[in-house]
Amino acid sequence: MDKNQHLSAGHFDVIVVGAGISGIAAAHYLTTLCPDHTYAVLESHASFGGTWLLHQYPGVRSDSDLYTYGYAFKPWTRKPIATGDEILGYMEEVIRDDGIEPHIRYGHTIRSASWSSTTNVWTLEVTRAADGKTVRFTTNYLWTCHGYYRHAEGYTPEWPGMDAFQGQLVHPQSWPEDLDCTGKRVVVIGSGATAATLLPALAGKCATVTMLQRSPTYFNIGRNEVPLATELRKLNIDERWIHEIIRRKLLSDKYVTILRARNEPDDYRRELLANVRAHLGEGHEAIPHFDPHYRPWTQRIAFDPDGGLFASVREGQAGVVTGEIERFCENGIQLKSGVVLEADIVVTATGFHLSVMGDIAFTVDGEPVDFAQTVAYRGTALTGVPNFAWVFGYYRSSWTLRVGMVAEFVCKMLNHMRRTGASRVTPVLRQEDEGMQLRPWIDPKDFNPGYVQRRVHLLPRQGCKPEWRIGEDYQQETDEFACIDLEDPIFEYVRSDSVAEAGA
Ligand SMILES: Cc1cc2nc3c(=O)[nH]c(=O)nc-3n(C[C@H](O)[C@H](O)[C@H](O)COP(=O)(O)OP(=O)(O)OC[C@H]3O[C@@H](n4cnc5c(N)ncnc54)[C@H](O)[C@@H]3O)c2cc1C
Repeated sequence: MDKNQHLSAGHFDVIVVGAGISGIAAAHYLTTLCPDHTYAVLESHASFGGTWLLHQYPGVRSDSDLYTYGYAFKPWTRKPIATGDEILGYMEEVIRDDGIEPHIRYGHTIRSASWSSTTNVWTLEVTRAADGKTVRFTTNYLWTCHGYYRHAEGYTPEWPGMDAFQGQLVHPQSWPEDLDCTGKRVVVIGSGATAATLLPALAGKCATVTMLQRSPTYFNIGRNEVPLATELRKLNIDERWIHEIIRRKLLSDKYVTILRARNEPDDYRRELLANVRAHLGEGHEAIPHFDPHYRPWTQRIAFDPDGGLFASVREGQAGVVTGEIERFCENGIQLKSGVVLEADIVVTATGFHLSVMGDIAFTVDGEPVDFAQTVAYRGTALTGVPNFAWVFGYYRSSWTLRVGMVAEFVCKMLNHMRRTGASRVTPVLRQEDEGMQLRPWIDPKDFNPGYVQRRVHLLPRQGCKPEWRIGEDYQQETDEFACIDLEDPIFEYVRSDSVAEAGA
């Protein structure tokens, strides 16, 4: 189809990419802080939820507590670790309460985004699922909340002999609705939160369920309850207060934990392992499978709510094997040790494909954007990319904590631009930033799961000054974001008068 024939689907002051937990937060803040701005949320899927809509495997749940993973503005009133359905229900309430639904266009996948400095407008080419047509949206400001991984397919490594395997291969990201594990031998490859969720959910329902891990992961085991929240509820304290108090308490607890993991890694490690031994029983043969070689916290520590995983391992309903895969065979998986794990179903909880900007082809004034050449202002706006924000949450704390902070900043910026007649803003490296050392988006020494290592070189880079860093410390970032001066020379604006002057 000729480009000029694309159907025009409308113009909005702001377009948000994605209706996951970040995109719905963006919509909430736009509704409440920028009521004079028009906006639309474009979402590939047929409904909201993002991660929580996509993942439908048995037992799917959060790893973080919902007091911090939930929004600051919406009290969480249930158990801290929530099921996928509970999180969807929570988001549905926000959508209803804020009247967000009419703003969302489901079944709309953005393929390209082109910025014009002549018009100061983004043009988006979008595939509409309902009729397969390409439609065109325009917007003054693009706010992407596309998450960090591709929803279209999960990551499954290539192993020799996979074609010969006679059983079923399943990725948790695309769990078949009708998959019946009853009486089947199931092997789950992986050791992260997904495997830890699947094991207790399948234990007792299938003939055997075994977690096959290349190397062990750290686990925190605890009750799925915050006793202080229970106490406060008994006292009939307002839920908004409880939410804020528990949020602060858990943040403070987490902060202490992160510091300890960094500063006293050996002591912290000993505590984690002592907890594992307490739950499995001293001398249990599975203990070495929960004793990692890396420093705690260089990868996310998995949480086992109410000890479900450890109970199923202790009671022999689930097994753990540490080893490397040599090849797949007809009846299962052969390890390098020679051991064969027989399986009817193999679940590859092996991770994601990192998504670079929602797989959208970006151009600025006709030039393709190479994101690896951009530098991120506080992990959200990018040099050389005007009127643009990206939400990337925390990976050690709850993702969403960063989302609210970025959303408030974006809304302040939008209001500031409107008030001061600015039609374009782009962060720029100032004279004093020249020669600043640039680093990858995520430092591999800090956080290094496979999906990050495989594609981090394609992401924007960060600098070494606070304003050019992607923070991981919520307390510190909260203070820093509150002090942002929107007239700092780091923000290069084009205002109506300067456009008029340029045109004169
Ligand atoms: C099973 C699971 C459990 C997790 N648990 C936790 C947890 O407990 N705590 C935590 O902090 N993190 C957790 N995470 C990480 C989690 O992904 C983030 O917390 C959070 O859900 C990300 O939300 P998001 O809205 O930014 O992205 P997503 O949930 O990935 O949503 C992005 C949305 O954008 C849409 N989109 C993307 N590209 C386009 C495009 N080009 N056009 C249109 N739409 C597009 C997608 O369809 C999707 O709906 C978990 C991840 C998984 C997979």
